[in-house]
Order: sequence, then structure tokens, then C-alpha cells
Amino acid sequence: MHVLVLGAGQLARMMSLAGAPLNIEISAYDVDSGNIVHPLTQSVIGNGLHNAIERADVITAEFEHIAHDILAICQQSGKFLPSADAIKAGGDRRLEKALLDKAGVRNANYYVITSRQDFDDAIEHVGLPMVLKSALGGYDGKGQWRLKQRDQIEAIWHEMEQCIAATDTQAIVAEEFVTFDREVSLVGARGKDGSVAVYPLAENVHTNGVLTLSTAIADTELQQQAKQMFTAVANSLEYVGVLALEFFDVDGTLLVNEIAPRVHNSGHWTQQGAETCQFENHLRAVCGLPLGSTKLIRSTAMINILGEDTLPPQVLAIGGCHIHWYGKEKRAGRKMGHINVCGDYNGELQRKLCQLAQILDKHAFPAVHEFAANFSE
Ligand code: ATP
Ligand code: MG
Repeated sequence: MHVLVLGAGQLARMMSLAGAPLNIEISAYDVDSGNIVHPLTQSVIGNGLHNAIERADVITAEFEHIAHDILAICQQSGKFLPSADAIKAGGDRRLEKALLDKAGVRNANYYVITSRQDFDDAIEHVGLPMVLKSALGGYDGKGQWRLKQRDQIEAIWHEMEQCIAATDTQAIVAEEFVTFDREVSLVGARGKDGSVAVYPLAENVHTNGVLTLSTAIADTELQQQAKQMFTAVANSLEYVGVLALEFFDVDGTLLVNEIAPRVHNSGHWTQQGAETCQFENHLRAVCGLPLGSTKLIRSTAMINILGEDTLPPQVLAIGGCHIHWYGKEKRAGRKMGHINVCGDYNGELQRKLCQLAQILDKHAFPAVHEFAANFSE
């Protein structure tokens, strides 16, 4: 099987690594250069998108901010999974909110803003404090504003107005500020036959809007809620592939924050912690193969490596620690790789996270240090 992935970043890279044992070959479309590249070496291997589409058995995507004309070409080929509509919903908060409402899943109260009048109406409708998010192009907490007090309105409107004016199709989605206990996410796969397999929930720590630590958790009650919402969203899109739902946990009730129509950073722990990793399951789904077991095989957490291209080698001396580099050039704050940490049971995993806090730099790995500081056996 030959799978063409739209996007040539770390997610395509990890799909390629997971696909090799199944004889699934991956090529990647680099949206910036327009080249077809090898997802591991980044060397150019193809002659334009049209030829690559022709050659591929299946086309899929590693991110949701893809130009709609490219999505249309892929959709037309009849090989694109999940659908162009699913990718668009993940890349446009207006479509995403409409989808969540249609699927009947709980999400934060919201209002779409394209004018100053809308902003006033949103303040009325949603109330303060609120979070304002650009409808298109947001990721890692970028393109967001927090409106807490009325005296911030003018300054925030000034920035939002420029954001809206920058393109024809941009808008802002105002959302009620949710006071949550924690953030969790559910990654799962839906097959061509409609079968659904979800992983255990992950509890996520964000630092300055970016995921820093993600830990697989066992919580039967929350898991049930999350799976029901996952299935509702996946079924309403007739989704095929891996899909992620991010939630706010408000006193034991889940509210969907957003969806990602792709393999997800909060599912990287599955590489060492689950029977079948999310990358393999995505490929199995889009290639029409039976889904693999999503069972948790050991306590696992994932630590993002941001803006660093080396780690102390002692990390690897801790049993159950696995480093995954993405082969990217170093840039401040950039996702450069991740560490999966495993233990036979929760206490062992927690002890290893504390050991890592002694080795890893405090500024580069704030979530690990925070975990260790709060940890008492
Ligand atoms: P991602 O990289 O996950 O795609 P993003 O930039 O698309 O991030 P969100 O996930 O919507 O944005 O928001 C980033 C973070 O901001 C969330 O993980 C959460 O911590 C916080 N946040 C978002 N929306 C709200 C809200 N309505 N109330 C409170 N906090 C929020
Ligand atoms: Mg998010």
C-alpha cells in the first residue's frame, strides 16, 4: 500500500515509522514547498501533487490547515480519508462548533464575530470572562485573546479587527471562559466498517498554550462519557482514521474544547504505552485493515521536547524512557521531539518523572518540574 500524507512534519514521519512493518509506504506532501518528500529524510521523491495523487492508494492528512483547493483535488480522487469536510471542520472553529452542536455533544457557549456589533452581541450573549479565538489558522494557543474586564474591550477589538481584515474568510469565535479542573483528551480510530476503538483518556498539561505533559489515565466514568462523545462526532462525519477530542473536565462532566481530525500530540504515548500505537491504527483505518487493540499495556506519560535539540544521555539510562526526535532544525519553542516514560504501575511512572526532573532543565521542561514539586508518595 502507498499512502500520501498532506503535510511533511513529525506526524507524517511517525506514520512512516509505524507503517513500515505493514509494508505501508508513506510519501509526504510538503505544503510550503509543494514538493513530495520522503517523510524521514525530507528528500524530494516525487513530481508534483497530481502525480503523487495518481500513484497513491490512499491519501490522508497530518494537519487541518490545508488550502481548500488542495482538499478538493484530493477529495475528487476518491482516495482521501478522512473526508475533506472532516479536515475543514478541524481547521475552522465555526464549522467545528456547528459540528459539535449537530452531534449533540456538550461544548462551551459561543458566538461568531465578524463585526464590532457582533463583538458587543457576543459580550452580551457569552458574558465575561471570555476566550476569543480566530476561526482559522489557530494552533498551540496562537490567535487567541482573553477578555476579562470591560476596560480591555477596545484594545482587544483593535487586534481582532486586524485579524479579521487580514483575509476574506477570517472570523473570531467568542467562547465562555470555562473554569475546568483539568484538561483531558481522547484519541481513537474509526474504521471503514464503522468500528470504533478508543485509547484510554490522556490528562494534558499545557504551558503557555502548548502541550507539555500528557499522561494516560484510567477513569471509567470519564472514559464512558468521552467515548460516547467521540462516537457521536466520528459517526456524524462518517469518519475514517484517527480522531482526537480535547475536553475540559468540569467537576466530572466533560465539555469538548476542540477536535483534531488526525493523529494527535496527546496520543504519542501510545507508541510505548498501548498495544497498537495511534499511527499504526490511523494507517490501518484508512487502508481498510482491521483496527488494532488500543489496550493500555503499561503506565505511560509523554513529555514534549520544545526548542531543544539535545538531551542529557542519562535520560536513556532510566528504564522505560524512550526518546523520539523529529529531525527538525532547532527554533525557540518548536516541537522538536518527545520522551515517552513508562512504568509497570503508576507509582513507578511517577518516580521516573521525578528522576527526570533531576536531569532535565527546569526552564525547558516546566511541567516535569511542576509534577515533581507537587509529588509526594
Ligand atoms: P491546539 O494546539 O490544541 O490546537 P489551539 O491553539 O487550537 O490549541 P485551544 O485548544 O482551543 O487552542 O486552546 C488552547 C488552550 O487554551 C486550551 O488547552 C486551554 O488550556 C485554554 N482554553 C481554550 N479555550 C478555553 C475556554 N473556553 N476556557 C478556558 N480555557 C480555554
Ligand atoms: Mg487545543
